[in-house]
Amino acid sequence: MGTEYWGWAGEAHLREHGESGGAVSGLLASVLSSYDEVIVIRKTGTVFEAEVHTLDSPQGIARVQGALHAVSIELSHYLQLGRKTAIVLKPCEARAVIENIKRNHVRREDVLLIGLNCGGTLPPVKTKEYLRSQFGVSPGDIAKEEIAKGNLIFFTTDGQELSRSIDELEEAGYGRRESCRYCDVKIPSMCDIACGNWGTPAEKHITFLEVFTDAGAAALEAAVDGGYVSVSEPGEKLAAVRKKIEGIMVKMAKGWQEKMLGPFMAMEPKERLDAIHAALAPCIGCYACRKACPVCKCGDDCKCFQADPDDQLPISMFHAVRFLHLMESCVGCGQCSDACPMEIPLAHLHQLFAKAYEGRTGYKPGMSCGDIPPLSRGDFPEGY
Ligand code: SF4
Repeated sequence: MGTEYWGWAGEAHLREHGESGGAVSGLLASVLSSYDEVIVIRKTGTVFEAEVHTLDSPQGIARVQGALHAVSIELSHYLQLGRKTAIVLKPCEARAVIENIKRNHVRREDVLLIGLNCGGTLPPVKTKEYLRSQFGVSPGDIAKEEIAKGNLIFFTTDGQELSRSIDELEEAGYGRRESCRYCDVKIPSMCDIACGNWGTPAEKHITFLEVFTDAGAAALEAAVDGGYVSVSEPGEKLAAVRKKIEGIMVKMAKGWQEKMLGPFMAMEPKERLDAIHAALAPCIGCYACRKACPVCKCGDDCKCFQADPDDQLPISMFHAVRFLHLMESCVGCGQCSDACPMEIPLAHLHQLFAKAYEGRTGYKPGMSCGDIPPLSRGDFPEGY
């Protein structure tokens, strides 16, 4: 467990326009004096549209506020070896950075990982359709959204709350992206600092900050000393509420994992293989999934991943190798599924293997730079 604080931005305009009192914005303004750049996402239209943005001065910070709930973009792709970068990440993105650090694509000492607690992201197109058809609301009228007390709640710019049971929505095919439903990392403890609104007083604009590393502590201390962020001790009861919310979200994720993994594990091996072949049959070999993957860094010239055009195998070597590779490195971000033009549920398929592997070996990728994967360690549990 890290050191916990409540925090808020020192500057009034960042406090007013930022999420939960703007502590993350204040932190970013401060770290720009010691890092070459800050990578964030910036809202481009409604709260569901955003683009990657690089900040190199505090002047632009006000323009990147309010993108917390926008489309899930895999930001770890944008880190460059040797550049000192602070980056704001959801848990899956932070896990991807950790996997890249293990492979020497990024150096841990060069990056400041500012994590955001995450209950899941929404697919923008489907969510906008849903808002129009179910609530008769334009997506442009949504100020933010939140999952609370079993409901997905949309807050409109004129102060209304539009709420539906998250379970009912997801059973009906709406709600969070599929990979977010079964993701069981909600507070990104692999980051230097984790930030969010769980465990803060509803009526006040405050961010809950949990500091996990010396680099995180130094960044927060500098932000406080410079007047960019103010902090106080968190209320004990609300700190416990934060843990409770995390526990509820993880329990929901485990329920989805059971639904996903249970029927697959209950199949006979031949039936399981047939199901995988059938799911991959529409593949056209475009490699969009590989390009979108934040862990795989194979370039277009990587021969080990090229499918042989004369290949008569029911699944190409490309997919077979990816299953093996991602079994112990898939962070469950869902970018492969989002990228696939044939709508193959790739994240689901990879998570079937990754979760089964995690269950047997106890290894979960992206949680710590010091965790060596079992295939590399060579110490599989007995009977594996
Ligand atoms: Fe095949 Fe889809 Fe990957 Fe393209 S993105 S290679 S169609 S699985």
